[in-house]
Amino acid sequence: ILEIEGLRKTYGSLEVLKGIDCAVHEGEVIAIIGSSGSGKTTLLRCINMLEDFEGGTIRLDGEEIGYHAEGSMRRRKSEKDIARQRALTGMAFQQFNLFPHMTAEANVMLGLLKVKRLPKDEARAIALKWLDRVGLGDRAGHFPGQLSGGQQQRVAIARAIAMNPRLMLFDEVTSALDPELVGEVLQVIKGLAADGMTMLLVTHEMRFAYEVASRVIFMNQGVIGEDGNPREMFVAPKTERLADFLKTSS
Ligand code: ATP
Repeated sequence: ILEIEGLRKTYGSLEVLKGIDCAVHEGEVIAIIGSSGSGKTTLLRCINMLEDFEGGTIRLDGEEIGYHAEGSMRRRKSEKDIARQRALTGMAFQQFNLFPHMTAEANVMLGLLKVKRLPKDEARAIALKWLDRVGLGDRAGHFPGQLSGGQQQRVAIARAIAMNPRLMLFDEVTSALDPELVGEVLQVIKGLAADGMTMLLVTHEMRFAYEVASRVIFMNQGVIGEDGNPREMFVAPKTERLADFLKTSS
């Protein structure tokens, strides 16, 4: 469902992604691990077109994301096309980015009303279904300030999933949470994984990566250092770099 070839991204003179190649198949749950600054977040942001990139291609369901080729030139697609393509992916962030003046239900409904242009009743039914699914059926009328961090993150996940994306991107969604709230968010992600949702998760939770991911990608200085089965990678890393990383992060 996702094909990345030769992806390169720079910030000024800093080359953050130095040629990423990978293919993601339907139903895969991929944990992206690696030390700080290795380019994990940037990779997700390129896939979601929150960042432009200088080289390579990203294809989602066979269609190139963000750019089209004109002879030997590559041109950015129109904002309308990019918005349509962005809707194919859902993203949840470390900071939940909920609207504080809107209830949980209204936060989840917003994209359904504004982007999908669904009638209010239908949007509300979908929002309630997903809030229920993340264990917050009884909190629909609460404002973000009245919810715990873990609950807010679950609303943010419900909001992304309610749009029915082909692919979910999770960017360190538990990093801003108190330790006792991490479990409830991981539980929700586990449930989505069990349902067959295709997802890429940047995570520092090695245990979670080990338990939930069907595949692990280890990013190292802007390239993929290792890519494989979590059991093999965690138990017998092939490279010294991954072995060192695992030693310092467990
Ligand atoms: P972490 O685990 O700390 O989140 P990461 O692997 O997700 O790290 P990225 O956030 O992708 O790493 O960042 C990769 C590099 O790009 C870092 O050196 C970072 O400082 C730099 N960087 C990220 N965003 C920007 C930006 N908007 N402008 C300039 N440099 C940036």
